[in-house]
Amino acid sequence: MNILTIAGSDSSGGAGIQGDLQTIVAHGANPLTVVTAITAQNSKSVESIQVVDKRLLSQQLKAVAEDFRLHGIKTGLLPTVASIEEVAAFRRSHNIDIPLVSDPVLSAGTGDELVSENILDIYMSELMPLATLITPNVLEAEKLSGRRIDSLSDVATAGVELIRRGASAVLIKGGHLSENNATDVLVTETQEILIEGESLETENVHGTGCALASAIACRLAKHEDLESAVRGAKDYVRQAIKEAFRLGCGSLYLQHFPANG
Ligand code: PLP
Repeated sequence: MNILTIAGSDSSGGAGIQGDLQTIVAHGANPLTVVTAITAQNSKSVESIQVVDKRLLSQQLKAVAEDFRLHGIKTGLLPTVASIEEVAAFRRSHNIDIPLVSDPVLSAGTGDELVSENILDIYMSELMPLATLITPNVLEAEKLSGRRIDSLSDVATAGVELIRRGASAVLIKGGHLSENNATDVLVTETQEILIEGESLETENVHGTGCALASAIACRLAKHEDLESAVRGAKDYVRQAIKEAFRLGCGSLYLQHFPANG
């Protein structure tokens, strides 16, 4: 099974392309990696970012599409209007029938901005409607829906608004809400489902959003239905958080391969 991740490179190895790659391998699948940007970062902060130009992005997508059969796609950091347009065109022309999980990344877990252009409108009009599922956190959902989120019921309302604006399904990760740090809300055209999780008291862990979206893409590619793919992926990330380890002086890193210790 081949899973393509289209995302940014994280030199610290825990998030972005490198986090996706570990998640995909841990799910027994083969990772294909198209890089949208290169970041210089460690567990404490993002030092700089260089966007991969439209031509090289397009060549990477073409190279992958002409040789490999794809079973699932995950998108992470798409830092420019041009990169969103390129990925949307790729989706329309090559692989509209396989699952696409899109994590609308705007900033790193450290709070550092990863996107300097206003990409929200183009993301919503071009890519969001082509995704099987989008996985914003609360801050991203606020920006995309234009609604303030202070409670779980605001989360559901924002999800419904994103469906109205063209998304097929939305998983809003509740981790930034003070009343709750483990319940996510899955909204589809017909349902609102609370996906409860176990509250874990940990320091900041790097790469959890990337891992969740990649794990869902792997499970959808194996033909799991949306709700069980989300629940299974959430269990996967919870386990990786429980075993998270210290690599540098800042955030902890997910343990994708517990036997590694
Ligand atoms: N993509 C890249 C390239 C990143 O560097 C990061 C975080 O540093 C992210 C995405 C988002 O990571 P997370 O899964 O912690 O939200």
